[in-house]
Amino acid sequence: MTTTEVSVRVEDKLFQNRYLVDAGRAHIKVRPHTVPSPALLALLTACPARCYELNGKGQVEITVDGCVECGTCRIIGEPTGDIEWNYPRGGYGVLFKFG
Ligand code: SF4
Repeated sequence: MTTTEVSVRVEDKLFQNRYLVDAGRAHIKVRPHTVPSPALLALLTACPARCYELNGKGQVEITVDGCVECGTCRIIGEPTGDIEWNYPRGGYGVLFKFG
């Protein structure tokens, strides 16, 4: 019996999801800071949807559009007080598409 390898990138699968933005009510907020903590810096690579970025001042910012609500950043950043994490309001947030 032979098997066929199929290469699928995470980015390709995430692209199939849809996200309904709750304008002005981000469900995740980054604590104001001047120098990012180690936990905030970890979020730059830990978020599978790449929602966290460094701005021009070297501070960590989040754009919640595209967040898949996986909770990774909640585990890393909420206990340290670096982020505030809530689920989006009903009707907003990620819409997963399967298949
Ligand atoms: Fe990224 Fe997951 Fe946090 Fe959303 S919940 S911002 S996808 S790490």
